[in-house]
Amino acid sequence: MAAYETEVLIIGGGIAGTTIARELSKYKTDAMLVEKEMDFGQGITKSSSTIVNQGCNVVTFRPEYHNSRLVWAGMPLMEPLCKELQVPYKKIGSLTLFKNRAGMRRPNKLLSRFDEWSKKYLPHAKPLQLIDNDTLHNWEPNISKDFIGAVYDPNIAITDPVRLTIALAENAGQNGIGIMPDTKVLGIATGTEKFVVQTNKGTIKSRYIINAAGEYVVKIAREINADDFVLYPVKSYMAVLDKKVGNLLAHMVTSEEHGTVNPSVHGNLFFGISPGSQRLGKIHDHATDKIIADAALEHARKLVPAISKKDIINSWVGFIMYRNFEMGWHECSVGVSRWVPRFINASIGFPGICAAPAAAQEVIDLLAQEGLQLAQNPDFNPNRKAAPIFHELSDDEKRQLIASDRRYGQIICRCETVTEGEIVEAIKNGARSLDGVKFRCRPGMGRCQGGFCGPKVTRILARELGISPEEVTKKGDGSHYALYKSKELLEAE
Ligand SMILES: Cc1cc2nc3c(=O)[nH]c(=O)nc-3n(C[C@H](O)[C@H](O)[C@H](O)COP(=O)(O)OP(=O)(O)OC[C@H]3O[C@@H](n4cnc5c(N)ncnc54)[C@H](O)[C@@H]3O)c2cc1C
Repeated sequence: MAAYETEVLIIGGGIAGTTIARELSKYKTDAMLVEKEMDFGQGITKSSSTIVNQGCNVVTFRPEYHNSRLVWAGMPLMEPLCKELQVPYKKIGSLTLFKNRAGMRRPNKLLSRFDEWSKKYLPHAKPLQLIDNDTLHNWEPNISKDFIGAVYDPNIAITDPVRLTIALAENAGQNGIGIMPDTKVLGIATGTEKFVVQTNKGTIKSRYIINAAGEYVVKIAREINADDFVLYPVKSYMAVLDKKVGNLLAHMVTSEEHGTVNPSVHGNLFFGISPGSQRLGKIHDHATDKIIADAALEHARKLVPAISKKDIINSWVGFIMYRNFEMGWHECSVGVSRWVPRFINASIGFPGICAAPAAAQEVIDLLAQEGLQLAQNPDFNPNRKAAPIFHELSDDEKRQLIASDRRYGQIICRCETVTEGEIVEAIKNGARSLDGVKFRCRPGMGRCQGGFCGPKVTRILARELGISPEEVTKKGDGSHYALYKSKELLEAE
């Protein structure tokens, strides 16, 4: 088994771990990031409803809550970050709906809260606006006529958190951080000067550890008795609708009673995060069930009645890590362990995607506070070039791309219009499994969920990686896609 030594070891390649890795790459440091899965962003980050900049539309945010402060601080960082890494980012705005004067409790709170705190904590945010009945139904003709007004928050945006996470890992790697997917931490011990971390790839000795293991953050901390906090995993359901109903909404819509429906950057709608579709769960139990799914659909239909079960193309659950039940989900656990020096826990809670860039900056300060010498990395390059997305190009650009590489003329995924050229590029950039390709360039994300393109993508993966189709997995060990050769794979031989 290999033996590695480093100064800083980051455990977990979700949005928290990768933003920290990328932030750390701005300094001359010896650091490594390990992720147990074959790819990045495959934990809670993959479950997200992709909304960022929620700083103004969450009534229960308060300056005394750590997560609120991180989200507020993260709001001006998200758009430039997505630009530097060439990750989709789109301002859509949100509408917090109310039914009658009595239902204005939340909107009124939002408006007064914004007035109270905007100058101090949200100087970068655009002001909220009260929207009347006519304007509301003019903007969003498909929302329920039960609603008579809304608070409009123009700051709300959407991104692709998994693409962002992959891009952050790539950029951190380009800037000198050791990036190790498929590397699971199995145990941690205290050495004389360094922690000794056992992984499936060998031993890693590190002076500092950053524990960004998402739903497993307590489990990892417990390895070394650094679990001086409690987290409650709340199982939360989300569903995605077929693109053909993507135009039902232009904004994110939300109400206290019925959760959220929002557009995605790829033209689908998501719904979830509603009362009844969340419950205290056991980590690792990612099963969805009919009760949670029916509750979520019922709530979504209260917001947008045209949402239909037949348009759901996929659904999943993820865990929101509550720090404290009384404070609700808006608290997080980012800090040096009170019991183990040089061990930093980085659990970013909810909403965590937009909190992540500010949390990463805070972790750098904590490392410095714990004695890590940090000199600027003069070679740091913030920019990363994304692979071309064929269906977004102009006809001229498409022609040029096909002329340079004929594989861009071969459509593999008809639902999402993904070409062979894009799949090959995704593999060159690190995809090793069907999910690795799917989350980079989307074959299998459409109506057929990979039913038609799955065998073709398997064939391309096998060819490019020099393995047999039976060795191709959906997402690593134990998820082999083809147990034996199907007709289409046989034809390829
Ligand atoms: C349904 C749902 C919707 C959400 N919607 C939003 C939203 O719209 N906007 C928003 O801002 N936030 C949202 N959130 C919250 C947000 O998704 C999370 O805060 C964020 O993704 C957490 O990221 P993370 O990096 O801490 O965890 P993760 O993404 O889980 O990353 C942790 C990583 O650690 C790895 N790991 C675990 N154990 C080990 C080990 N032993 N060795 C090596 N690696 C290990 C895991 O594989 C994983 O990749 C949502 C959450 C849920 C559940």
